Amino acid sequence: MVKQKGVGLLGKHCAFCGKKEGLLEGITVFRKDGSSQYYCSRKCRRNAELRRKPRKLKWTRETRATNRGA
Ligand SMILES: [Zn+2]
Repeated sequence: MVKQKGVGLLGKHCAFCGKKEGLLEGITVFRKDGSSQYYCSRKCRRNAELRRKPRKLKWTRETRATNRGA
């Protein structure tokens, strides 16, 4: 396994849709337990807060990955 330097700061995968975006564009949410989650947009953050499932939404990476094999 190869670790990539700098990737953690320059680009994170959205915790909801899986899209990779620069940190400046997205939102990092820090929780009381010390963990943090990154969302690429307010849309993703809202959907995550509403506990929507990424698989049911067409625009998430998870859905695309699922449909690829079918
Ligand atoms: Zn997203």
